[in-house]
Amino acid sequence: MKEKQELLMIPGPIEFSPAVLNAMSRPTNSHVSPEFVACFGRCLERLGDLFLAPKYQSFILAGSGTLAMDVALSNLLEPDDGVLIVHSGYFSDRMRDIAELYGARVDVVSAETGSVPGPEDVQKALEKKDYKIVCITHVDTSTSVLADIKGISAVARKADALVVVDGVAAAGGAECRTEEWGIDIYLTASQKAVGVPPGLALLTVSPRALKVAAERTNPVPNYYASFTYWLPIMEAYQARKPAYFGTPAVNLVYALEVSLKEILEDEGLEERFIRHEKQGQAFRAGLRALGMQPLPAGEELCAPTLTAVYYPEGVSAALNAALAEEGVLVAGGLLPAIKGDYFRIGHMGYSGLLDLMGVLGGLERALIKCGYDAFSPGAALQACQKEYLALRGDV
Ligand code: PMP
Repeated sequence: MKEKQELLMIPGPIEFSPAVLNAMSRPTNSHVSPEFVACFGRCLERLGDLFLAPKYQSFILAGSGTLAMDVALSNLLEPDDGVLIVHSGYFSDRMRDIAELYGARVDVVSAETGSVPGPEDVQKALEKKDYKIVCITHVDTSTSVLADIKGISAVARKADALVVVDGVAAAGGAECRTEEWGIDIYLTASQKAVGVPPGLALLTVSPRALKVAAERTNPVPNYYASFTYWLPIMEAYQARKPAYFGTPAVNLVYALEVSLKEILEDEGLEERFIRHEKQGQAFRAGLRALGMQPLPAGEELCAPTLTAVYYPEGVSAALNAALAEEGVLVAGGLLPAIKGDYFRIGHMGYSGLLDLMGVLGGLERALIKCGYDAFSPGAALQACQKEYLALRGDV
């Protein structure tokens, strides 16, 4: 148990709702019991609503986001296939490493730190060579840069490439219309805006991608990740029939059903996208009032789910420890070249404006403790409040 009241504001895992946490502590029943099979089946269907992909096949696997990345690429790639990585930070490198492991010819289209290639850059790369897959990170957690996955998917589709999007730091918070935007695989993990403790890898896969996987010439070079074994299991659960390949994470799946209800019924997906946009914008207004600069190179590049922000002049990573003393836990920098220059705050899922106001209050006190006082106390809270009220149309 937490010894004192503190806020977990890292970019995942995040704070979880009491109802979700309750589901984690219910008695675990058999993974082939009618009750669990029905719950798993409903979760698969509801993931179609979360990802806005009703005609796609959902997968729920025990594992983390990295497993979801591995599943996507190991099932689609064969040796010498071309892969284009749209690079926006640390997790684009991970996608490149996985593609190379499966023998792909990988090219990377990149941009300056704090930015991401746009549809025109990807179009240029696609005109030079044929690629089987274009990989995009929706929100890169190392930079908080948001990619234009709609625009990039459109150009990739025109070039007949499959589109794989890593939505680990985005799904359930940042807008994604998977089917309408022509994304073939959108993948995520439970511990971020989906609002469930770590341990579930979640994917939605287009019929086109399933066909490519089914018609491969070589077997999938990965046992646990293979659709060959998992697709019949997902289909069985959807038909409310028991099936077994690997034991599912029973309590996490119960918790997922609770969270999906909170997202889709209690809050509403469209309202949730808007909430994340507004709270992110208001939070950044608060940071700017303290003279702090977000890492993304423009407001349109800022993710709604987390913020990477540079330390102000004269302040270092000691700020994170001072913030922790104020009860606010944030994450340090992740990009090796500028790791010590910035830190990251998650604002997704169960974390809302209430928490962000708490972060800004704690940040002001921590900055003063670190000797930075180029602001009048309350400035960040005031700016955040003003921006939020204006965005809501109240003033
Ligand atoms: N992609 C992104 C964008 C992420 O933020 C993360 C986790 N921070 C991952 C992939 C990997 O997920 P996991 O740590 O759950 O394996």
